[in-house]
Amino acid sequence: MRAEIIAVGTELLLGQIVNTNAQFLSQRLADLGVDVYFQTVVGDNEARLKEAIAIAESRADLVLFTGGLGPTMDDLTRDVLAAHLGVGITMHEPTLAKIEALFAGRPASLIEINRRQAMLVEGASPLRNDAGLAVGSALTAGGTHYMLLPGPPREMKPMFLNDGSAWLTERLGGAEALHSAMLRFCGIGESALEELYKDLIEAQRDPTLATYAKEGEVALRVSTKAATAQEAERRLAPTLDEIRRRGERYLYAESDVPLEAEVIRLLAAQRRTISCAESCTGGLIATLLTTVPGSADAFLGGVVSYSNSVKRDLLGVDPALLEVENAPGAVSEETALAMAEGMRRSADTDLALSVTGVAGPASSEGKPVGLVFIAIAERGKPARAERLQLQGDREGIRIRAAKRALYMAWLRLTGKD
Ligand code: ATP
Repeated sequence: MRAEIIAVGTELLLGQIVNTNAQFLSQRLADLGVDVYFQTVVGDNEARLKEAIAIAESRADLVLFTGGLGPTMDDLTRDVLAAHLGVGITMHEPTLAKIEALFAGRPASLIEINRRQAMLVEGASPLRNDAGLAVGSALTAGGTHYMLLPGPPREMKPMFLNDGSAWLTERLGGAEALHSAMLRFCGIGESALEELYKDLIEAQRDPTLATYAKEGEVALRVSTKAATAQEAERRLAPTLDEIRRRGERYLYAESDVPLEAEVIRLLAAQRRTISCAESCTGGLIATLLTTVPGSADAFLGGVVSYSNSVKRDLLGVDPALLEVENAPGAVSEETALAMAEGMRRSADTDLALSVTGVAGPASSEGKPVGLVFIAIAERGKPARAERLQLQGDREGIRIRAAKRALYMAWLRLTGKD
């Protein structure tokens, strides 16, 4: 089944609201195994809505509308579709009774205006609205399925999930649904990841592979269509095994979790603790780690050592590294190592991370924007540092540096470094 979503509403065209309904419906339809080939947005205009319907039904088996079911004159969807199909409009009595009860004792004109929300395209099955008044409709005419859903997401979503998807499933028969695995990678960029799996991506038919760049991380979705979950698992298994084998150094989770959650999980499982000393990331690593529920046993604390004096006084970084002539300076491997060591000692944690770098927009100490040093210290072992030249604006560099530091921790905790 091929579907097209038509979102109706002038606010969408004016950019006043974002078409989140199409996003929601596309995801749910993919889960049901329905291919969405087009998403259309059209204003509250009769002629253009008619045109959109004619185009959609020429290329789709299912046309879903959101919006334009309300009580006002610019809510046109129901009337325009009925006219287009050459059918009438009928009253859905249970909805009318709901409206009459709601407006009981109020001016009769209010009931009159709102009666429109109880109207169905003739021949349509009603889709109940638990969160609002307008009733939805679903019908098949001339070989095309049509579904009319309200605009407000809090009404549209439950209507689709309750009555809408049940109506569709009946018409899909034993169709195959989309099953996917979401794999999360760190320490590798989107293009490098595509390079790693180039042959799999190029040859993809079933399963299909798609990469998504997240801030400082990449996700890979591997999908197949199958009638049952077991069948999907069987089809995905060889591709997943190959992905795991090649991506061993980067693949940190096979579910949709951020890297910081995986780092906390590993620390807790190993009963180890961590702290962090941050310069250019300004507390971002600490923020990420403390976003994870239950992080308190693993993450003990950190220092935002933005200035040289804090690096020296709170972390014990040797002033000879920072201020004397020809010293390596605040943004250097030596300082990153000293920050991590000093942090670990003073917080008495098993591990400590440190970051020092130039987030920009201006260069610092004559060093280029994006130059970042990250170090990891571990009890009983010498600290190690990494030099990076990161791309992006200030915020991009900060988030990438923070994720890269967490990646160093992940490598250490999984014994891969
Ligand atoms: P109402 O009964 O509120 O008039 P309706 O079915 O007529 O509902 P619209 O008037 O088109 O729907 O839109 C009502 C509100 O729903 C919009 O102001 C907007 O907040 C939200 N909305 C409409 N369409 C979308 C969409 N495609 N994505 C996200 N939100 C939407």
